[in-house]
Amino acid sequence: MEIIVMGCGTSQGVPLVAHDNLGLDLKNPRNWRTRTSVHVVIEGHHVQVDAAPEFRLQCLHNNIQEVDSFILTHGHADHVLGMDDLRQFCTNNGGQAIPVYTTENGVRRVSAIYPYAIGEAASPGYIALDLFLMPKKLTLPGGGIVHAVVLPHGAEPTLGLVFEEPSTGTRFAYYTDCKTVPRDALELAHGCDVAILDGLRPTFHPTHMTIGKACEMAVKMEAKQAYITHMTYQIDYDAYTKSLAAEFPTVGLCYDGMRIQLGKQR
Ligand SMILES: [Zn+2]
Ligand SMILES: [Zn+2]
Repeated sequence: MEIIVMGCGTSQGVPLVAHDNLGLDLKNPRNWRTRTSVHVVIEGHHVQVDAAPEFRLQCLHNNIQEVDSFILTHGHADHVLGMDDLRQFCTNNGGQAIPVYTTENGVRRVSAIYPYAIGEAASPGYIALDLFLMPKKLTLPGGGIVHAVVLPHGAEPTLGLVFEEPSTGTRFAYYTDCKTVPRDALELAHGCDVAILDGLRPTFHPTHMTIGKACEMAVKMEAKQAYITHMTYQIDYDAYTKSLAAEFPTVGLCYDGMRIQLGKQR
């Protein structure tokens, strides 16, 4: 399985526009964060999870050549607004609609923003989307499995995802945009090879975990390695990498373009 971190910034991106971004070393490229999403290659099948407003540029920077399935974790703008740029992947798939798996709110949001992409309305050369409610267990072409669990995120619950690749026996948990990791989600991800967890900033937020809470959850789920995502400008890559290493040796920070290989290279 391969995981590509396409973006790991919070909803406004990092650095913030028209702001002093105090404490953030802008000379460090790892402090330039586009909006959060990942691309997962599992049993050779390409799954795009969310499409940030920078989705097109993220695809170019990371040389993404295929999207076979799409999972929308929830309907917030920073995760849904790049979906129109799935267009070339539809063309490359011979004009076939891309299956999109999401929540009830996600279905409503995608239908409202992209009515021209759904069912009879879809026309050749543009995006075509086939909308489905995400099941608890999704088996993808090729045999990769994605387990889903609901995570609390204010009025817009998020899909927590655990990818399981049978041929390598590897597991990857992706829990972005959540206020906490409830017990069933902790159990689902328990002992995973890698977890990527929402860790917004050091201070309280009503719908996201703080970076401290994310570290606590990584330890609780006994992830072999964990990385923080959806970070604000308050998190300087070098400063936090250093302080986390001392307190939480299995937790690090994501950066845009980070690639993680699990199991043998396929
Ligand atoms: Zn978000
Ligand atoms: Zn959100």
